[in-house]
Amino acid sequence: MSKKAQERLAHNERRVERRDKMLIHDMTKERATVEEVFDQTTRMVVFDLLNSGVLYEVNGVVSSGKEARVYWATDREGKDLAVKIYLTSSAEFKKGMHKYIEGDPRFKDVKHDTRSLIAVWAQKEFRNLKEATDAKVRVPKPIAVKSNVVVMEFIGKEGVSAPSLKEQPPADPEKVYKILVTYLKRLRQKAKIVHGDLSEYNIMMWKGRPVIFDMSQSVAIEHPMADSLLTRDLTNLNRFFSRLDVKVIPVEELHKMVVG
Ligand code: ADP
Ligand code: MN
Repeated sequence: MSKKAQERLAHNERRVERRDKMLIHDMTKERATVEEVFDQTTRMVVFDLLNSGVLYEVNGVVSSGKEARVYWATDREGKDLAVKIYLTSSAEFKKGMHKYIEGDPRFKDVKHDTRSLIAVWAQKEFRNLKEATDAKVRVPKPIAVKSNVVVMEFIGKEGVSAPSLKEQPPADPEKVYKILVTYLKRLRQKAKIVHGDLSEYNIMMWKGRPVIFDMSQSVAIEHPMADSLLTRDLTNLNRFFSRLDVKVIPVEELHKMVVG
């Protein structure tokens, strides 16, 4: 190997080491909780994503929920990414996941141990984001998935997530309602999925337009719960927008429209 190549290799190794240190630093800042939630395997998955070049840097925590943590990361070009890491600890979560996986023809013969189940859960979110994107529904664009980790487009700027609809009610609610109805139609008719957890908490406002996210529980329209989940989504949507004085379409009518 030439001297130059050796130097480059050493430089790269140092860089990877530095990144790993940063990541470990970040992940251990809140030592007590982190040790509970990030097992060795999860750490390895993130290192893998760093080493394969999907991620360049993992920065701070954006959100720390019961079932998942979202990190702000960047790629080599400095583009912001969101890294959603599903936690492998909650037994309650495991029970909940089951009923959204079983009955979805896209996910058959799923193993029932917790790790496999969570991997399918992450896969499902990735796949739903992909299908939504292909159907021209504005969601974070999915970038990679590995085990319990989903990498996607970051909605927001420099590690600050765009506000949710809850945090920042839209200036033009009529328009946003209309866009959302169009998105739900496309989701149902083109992507052939139902969101399943739609509310003002899972919609962000970015550049004046709504972005739907948090799609791990979204199911294929063949799923036995798809119709009731859709009704619930539409009811939530109407509840939120009627409070903003939008003349909402009655749920039954809206349901027919969305199903087509
Ligand atoms: P959960 O509700 O299951 O904890 P979410 O997917 O709703 O997980 O994400 C939680 C929070 O993390 C969101 O409310 C948002 O603030 C932030 N977030 C999630 N995905 C992104 C993203 N792609 N870009 C920017 N922020 C995000
Ligand atoms: Mn959410």
